[in-house]
Amino acid sequence: MQEKLHLKQHPGINPPSFETTISEILDGGIYLDKTYCYPRGGGQPGDRGIISTGGKSSNFGEVLSGEKILHPVQDTEIFSEGDNILCEIDSVWRNKNTMMHTAQHVFSAIANDMFKAETVGNQISESTTRIDLWFPDRELFDAVEISTQVNDILRSGADVLIHQWSRNEILSHKNMRHTNFMDRIPSSVKILRVVEIEGIDLCPCAGTHVGNISEIPPISIESVRSKGSGKLRVTYS
Ligand SMILES: [Zn+2]
Repeated sequence: MQEKLHLKQHPGINPPSFETTISEILDGGIYLDKTYCYPRGGGQPGDRGIISTGGKSSNFGEVLSGEKILHPVQDTEIFSEGDNILCEIDSVWRNKNTMMHTAQHVFSAIANDMFKAETVGNQISESTTRIDLWFPDRELFDAVEISTQVNDILRSGADVLIHQWSRNEILSHKNMRHTNFMDRIPSSVKILRVVEIEGIDLCPCAGTHVGNISEIPPISIESVRSKGSGKLRVTYS
């Protein structure tokens, strides 16, 4: 059983280097006994970094989600199963994605409060985030108004807290957002991780988050495009 330690690390910036053992080597990657790496998911890119042992080292590409987290490595032949390794996560990459992911919580929450918009998709890329919103009335959307409000809130400096709550506690909480995807989580998972940005957002989430939203620089909307009936795709840097 591989320990997924990114879920226990909060704030999710500056992930630690860690030592562990290679449990299995596949054609294109390596499984580790435990890992702090964030696997791609929920619009947030996976971590990447360097695995090394006894003077040999290899970069690993974006780690992927699954029952076990795969660390993609090209030259797997330099490693052996059972090797004790040091894993160093690219923290510049992680920190940027952590800030962008936390900013997306704020943007989605404010879009919901201002326009009753639902976030139906999102993807973080190199320097921009794309959010697909569905609106009861998309004519209400105002890019200047929402970016001003999001930036005011980022400056306000709310703390980001992590809770471990039961499905019941989550589904019965009156301020909870984004619970519809919970059907897709196996019913054997009884306790879920909930992210709270104090006074702003509350939702189940496995991503990585800053400790306080004042750490996030202001956002700037780059484009707003129609994505079909009632939907807009908003891209901001
Ligand atoms: Zn999150």
